[in-house]
Amino acid sequence: MSELELHTLLVQGVFLVAALTVPALLFISAPYGRHARGGWGPQMDTRLAWMVMESPSVLWFLAVFFAGAHAWSLVPLLLLVLWQSHYVQRAFIFPLKIRPGGHTPVSVVAMGFMFNLVNAYVNARWVSEFGRYELSWLLDPRLWLGVGLFVLGYRINRRADAVLAALRKPGETGYKIPRGGLYELISCPNYFGELLEWTGWAIATWSVAGLSFAVFTAANLVPRALSHHKWYKQKFPEYPAGRKAVIPFLL
Ligand code: NDP
Repeated sequence: MSELELHTLLVQGVFLVAALTVPALLFISAPYGRHARGGWGPQMDTRLAWMVMESPSVLWFLAVFFAGAHAWSLVPLLLLVLWQSHYVQRAFIFPLKIRPGGHTPVSVVAMGFMFNLVNAYVNARWVSEFGRYELSWLLDPRLWLGVGLFVLGYRINRRADAVLAALRKPGETGYKIPRGGLYELISCPNYFGELLEWTGWAIATWSVAGLSFAVFTAANLVPRALSHHKWYKQKFPEYPAGRKAVIPFLL
């Protein structure tokens, strides 16, 4: 089997995992954060969990990217900056901003780590080796539409995560109703921002590899947003009735 065939197989694997994730998460919420519960084996510190789980998306992505024949070309480098701007923050800065003392099952971390190994390889290898991104791609509206969507999603995601991080005073562990900005329209603007980012990535790279990650992100985060939304409405009788879960005015 050639490496390109292996790459194609892995991309198909990501689509398959996405298809299985939707029904699984509609019935069983991923057991971390507010949906944490026993029965998922040993636990580890949540801040460390995020760092371990997301580190392949920074380090392994870099290694695979710079092994590619087109790594030093302008468009692949631009795409590298997009990817790393998200993942350096997610792996090494975001975990320091969430409350200390939380616990996450090692099994969840292991699944996330494995997924990120595959996903980082699939996307990095495509961008710097198998894909063809000539300088003319800089004049293609798909690149800039994708970059624009990615940057918009990034800002929404960062802002929404910052609002959540500010809800708790030092030492607090409970939950409050988030307010302001997109929280007036949806319960999970952080997930909405994430969906925009990876849709933007899929458009900017115009690749099946990028599309597989956008589809997986939706498969993972839309059911989780629906669970969060239901949980908020059950926990807070005064929860704003007009708020949707994850897509303003729609869902
Ligand atoms: P959540 O919104 O569930 O939680 C984010 C943080 O905010 C946690 O520390 C949580 O605490 C805290 N928090 C959430 N709601 C409240 C509230 N109402 N009051 C007080 N504190 C609150 O997000 P996730 O942990 O699921 O995800 C974190 C980030 O990772 C998001 O930006 C998400 O988009 C991204 N992500 C991306 C995925 C992908 O497939 N691309 C997959 C999963 C996450 P606690 O932990 O105690 O609940």
